[in-house]
Amino acid sequence: MDPVLLVILAVIVAAVVAGAVAVQRRSGGTREVEAFQERGAEPDTDVGGAVTLEAPSTEAPQGATEAPPADPADPTVQPAPPVERAPTEPEPMGLRERFRTRMARTANVLGSQVADLLGRGIDDDTWEGLEEALITADVGVTATMEIVEELRRAVREQGITDGAEVLALLKQQLRDALGDADRELVRASDEGPTVWLVTGVNGAGKTTTIGKLASIERRAGRDCVLAAADTFRAAAAEQLELWGERTDQRVVRHDEGADPASVAYDGFQAARATDAPLLVVDTAGRLHNKTALMDELGKVKRVLEKQAGPLEEVLLVLDGTTGQNGIAQARAFLEAVEVTGIVLTKLDGSSRGGIVVAVQRELGLPVKFVGLGEDVEDLAPFDPDLFVEGLFADVGV
Ligand code: GDP
Repeated sequence: MDPVLLVILAVIVAAVVAGAVAVQRRSGGTREVEAFQERGAEPDTDVGGAVTLEAPSTEAPQGATEAPPADPADPTVQPAPPVERAPTEPEPMGLRERFRTRMARTANVLGSQVADLLGRGIDDDTWEGLEEALITADVGVTATMEIVEELRRAVREQGITDGAEVLALLKQQLRDALGDADRELVRASDEGPTVWLVTGVNGAGKTTTIGKLASIERRAGRDCVLAAADTFRAAAAEQLELWGERTDQRVVRHDEGADPASVAYDGFQAARATDAPLLVVDTAGRLHNKTALMDELGKVKRVLEKQAGPLEEVLLVLDGTTGQNGIAQARAFLEAVEVTGIVLTKLDGSSRGGIVVAVQRELGLPVKFVGLGEDVEDLAPFDPDLFVEGLFADVGV
């Protein structure tokens, strides 16, 4: 062929290929914008000044590849292999199962001690042994004395000699000690947004709990705004942002050292502006200066109340492994703000799950949620029946 003709042909082919690529890029970009709009996100919206309103991440998870859709009519197409879950996405576990498996450490210690005691027959040593076992499990001295005293009386009056029956009575006593408080997290009865203020000492699990709550909301198909009002540590806001990305929820943050009350304010404005039905506010938990803590928490609460009216929840997050120490710390918070409920974390890591009884009894507040692990799904509404069942899960007497 004529070389001139060949060159002309090559130029034409190159132009056609370049055009096709450009069209594909444009339509990909359109898809991204559409996905963004579907989520109702607006990039870099500025609400009330310096606030950064984060857009939910539209990135595909790492390692994800886009496979072309399979043609079902094609006989060479193999059936799709079963979907493998990433390690961060465990098989959904029922609440009963979660309580049973995650309470295993306490159950191993308390349950096996109780089984051992009751298996030996009922005598004076039984009651002393029971007291020791319950106190070791952090049930608290006063509550333990009352529970064992009541148990002893019932056993005597009913002439019970069978260990299994005593165990059933003990479970009932523990269940009764947990009471029947309303444990639902309250939501605004008007159009909202609902506001939950989350407090607690550093390390108790506040941010993780907020992330898990955000995940519960996402799974229920509800948006929420997370306000990073712990401006004392930049890491706290960063951690919250990660949870926001992970749960596809918005995070409002300011720079480190900013006024926490203004973050809370902007969080509320952002929730309202985007029609998010819920605002969850993280707060600083330093305790080295009690007056400063009280002032700060009080101010955040006042500013929020001015916008929202009475807050639906002020949750105190307590580390379940800190025992009586945690209860003493909790009292300092109760002096600063009016708490509506407790979230007790790290029950999975503790051999002292009896702390639930002590917390409720000594603080006079309902345990509303419990942390049963570090995974996003490891936050469960506290269920006294499942809890007591979990404590004695594998106990045979
Ligand atoms: P904050 O300072 O109160 O915000 O506490 P963080 O949320 O940063 O939590 C402190 C540590 O406790 C982190 O390593 C969390 O992963 C861990 N944590 C929080 N909740 C739980 C829980 O329910 N179980 C376990 N095992 N670890 C938890």
